[in-house]
Amino acid sequence: MTSRIEETRSALVARTGRSRDIGQRSHEILNMGSAASLEMPHPVFIAASDRARVYDADGNAYIDCQLGFGTHVLGHRHPAVVEALHDAVDRGFQFGIHNPDQERLASLVREAVPGVEGVIFCNSGSEATFYAIRAARAFTGRDVVATFDGAYHGAHDWGMVVVDPDSPVDAPVGIPMSAGVPAAVYASRMLLPYRRRAAFDLIRANADRLALVMIEPVQSSNPRLDEETSAWLRELRDVCREHGVLFLMDEVITGFRIAWGGMAEHLDLAPDLVTHGKALGGGVPIGGVAGRGDVMRLFRGAAGGDPRGIFSGGSFSGNPLSMAAGVALVGTLGAQREQVYPYINAQGDRLAARLNAFAARHDMAFQVLNAGSMFQLYFQREPIGSARDVRYVDRVAERDFYLHLLANGVLVPGTRRSFLSAAHTPTDVDAIADAVEASLLAVRDDGRI
Ligand code: PLP
Repeated sequence: MTSRIEETRSALVARTGRSRDIGQRSHEILNMGSAASLEMPHPVFIAASDRARVYDADGNAYIDCQLGFGTHVLGHRHPAVVEALHDAVDRGFQFGIHNPDQERLASLVREAVPGVEGVIFCNSGSEATFYAIRAARAFTGRDVVATFDGAYHGAHDWGMVVVDPDSPVDAPVGIPMSAGVPAAVYASRMLLPYRRRAAFDLIRANADRLALVMIEPVQSSNPRLDEETSAWLRELRDVCREHGVLFLMDEVITGFRIAWGGMAEHLDLAPDLVTHGKALGGGVPIGGVAGRGDVMRLFRGAAGGDPRGIFSGGSFSGNPLSMAAGVALVGTLGAQREQVYPYINAQGDRLAARLNAFAARHDMAFQVLNAGSMFQLYFQREPIGSARDVRYVDRVAERDFYLHLLANGVLVPGTRRSFLSAAHTPTDVDAIADAVEASLLAVRDDGRI
């Protein structure tokens, strides 16, 4: 008897011939990794998108929960963004020189995010955290940068730290996340435990060498929005402030997603610095650093008159395409914030509640965590208080599940970090839940869950 997973794999292979051909050609030349959730015998190549859907090279449609790793808060090809981009293309795209939309987008960031007095633009979330670290070091005259166990802040050397799983929970030790990072980088990096009071003690004990505490206010590895975490985040900001350590909220994902002003608005808390990416550019590459005027002034470099002025800049920073799309998306989100955020957050809550009830009813080692429209599926019963608690009890079950999910017409990213947009109708969200449930039952039929 053929297993459910063999049937699913054959069905997927039969309908994705073009993807297979592209995969064979690109395998020879393209050294980019492919998303684990799209691993079949070959990866699926996505050729088009619209609203809540993406379409592969063979024309198959999927409900998209990848959304550019969370970029498309209003879904793909929102008319305001498309129109702004056509307009910008028609006007010409000149780089490395000021354009009027820079001031418009900076003003929207200042209006949206509490405490913002200055803004700079760059080209990715990674660049944003990289520049923010430089500014914090220059401002404080200290070297060490602390981040949290379970966090991701970008692909540059300073971001390439993960926790040694054998280190104590309250004294996490960082180990390299990638080869090729100089040991010197690790000498000025420090890891703190997420959602634990021990983090406050570690900050106090190391305050004289700490430039910056950087945190994802919702960790994408274990998304949650609860009062306990909010109280802990506020106290974290206070401890940093008491010791002259800059407090950075990395809102590359949460900015313009949890609320218009991101988690800073949700918590009603003004961080010293905030980093953005993704939604800020309306779907065109972007990064941004914003925050307190006295810190942000250092980005003026020598011209700012402060000897601590830093260098930043790049050929495509503040480019007219990203600025136009960003103004369109962030402006539309601002104008529609009373509708958009209650809607997407409620849809995320509804999806998680339905799937958690399903798992309980069927006694499955499965659960969903969500922070509004950000969610992730986990194949375990044990509660997840932080990324440390995530255990992939059965990796085969998980891999099979994502293949069934793809065959059932739902796409999630290889990172498993999943999202909803305002373009996902309640019917789409029901269809995602139906597909997850059908995929779980298929895995169960094969005796895997
Ligand atoms: N910071 C956070 C919290 C992120 O989630 C990411 C990417 O997902 C980054 C920084 C890096 O952004 P980018 O991929 O645009 O370089």
